[in-house]
Amino acid sequence: MRYVGPIYRPPSEADSLLIQATIGCPHNKCTFCMVYKKGPAYSVRPVAEIKEDLETAHGQLGGKIHSLFFPAGNTIAMPTAALAEICRYAHQLFPQLERITVYGSSRYIYRKGYEKLKELAEAGLSRIHVGLETGDDDILKTIKKGTTAREQIQAGLWVKEAGIELSEYVILGIGGKDRSEQHALKTASVLNAIAPDFVRLRTFVPKINTLLLHQIRKGRFQMLSPKEVLLETRLLLDNLNCPTLLYSDHYTNYLNLEGRIPADKERLLSSIDEALAWDESHFRPFFVGTQ
Ligand code: SF4
Repeated sequence: MRYVGPIYRPPSEADSLLIQATIGCPHNKCTFCMVYKKGPAYSVRPVAEIKEDLETAHGQLGGKIHSLFFPAGNTIAMPTAALAEICRYAHQLFPQLERITVYGSSRYIYRKGYEKLKELAEAGLSRIHVGLETGDDDILKTIKKGTTAREQIQAGLWVKEAGIELSEYVILGIGGKDRSEQHALKTASVLNAIAPDFVRLRTFVPKINTLLLHQIRKGRFQMLSPKEVLLETRLLLDNLNCPTLLYSDHYTNYLNLEGRIPADKERLLSSIDEALAWDESHFRPFFVGTQ
């Protein structure tokens, strides 16, 4: 497979065919994200080349592909007609395809608007992974996410209305000690307004070459301790009432939480309470991420 830049995909796409449609991220400003800080710059690959890669994969693997992921930072930002064309072509080549997924930030989904999302759904795009990170406007501004809570809600509602599955990622601890409570409550409120199919929890780990790591070193951002992260998670969960599937399937997390909301909420809250009684040495150590 031809690929430019780091390969970045969620664990849920581990079995998917990966074909690059875009390179880099058109935003590339989030203070916590290191993925494309050293390039490559954002670009969209020519449709003919993407089709060639799909054909190569078909030649090597046959038609039996069930899931396709177009990786890289914000593939939803690529022109709608081109994305729709490669989705249709993939379905043609792989008749057993059940899912086509891309990453997409709320600002680019919002720019697309409902009609274009509907067009993409009709072409076979079936899931979008969105880095919500937080529902709090102050934190969104500080981390330079380039969107607002209002925009995130509208973008999420349009995705669902278009018939595309929606997976929203939350970063625990991204507000630091100052904004932990605000982060938990406002994130729960935004998620309740959207009711995404999946909510996926990640815990903030500072990464090399990021502004946020620099701010930590200068004492301008205080990270949460493992138990403070658990308390934040508890507050978020306690206030999360929309029907959704919660996952925290990630190496950054202190506790794996998985269940259906609201049915499993009490069980999940009890697991957090149990973990809060553990000795601090039980949790993974602090580290700076390098990938
Ligand atoms: S977090 Fe996503 S939107 Fe932000 S810079 Fe990284 S890839 Fe781009």
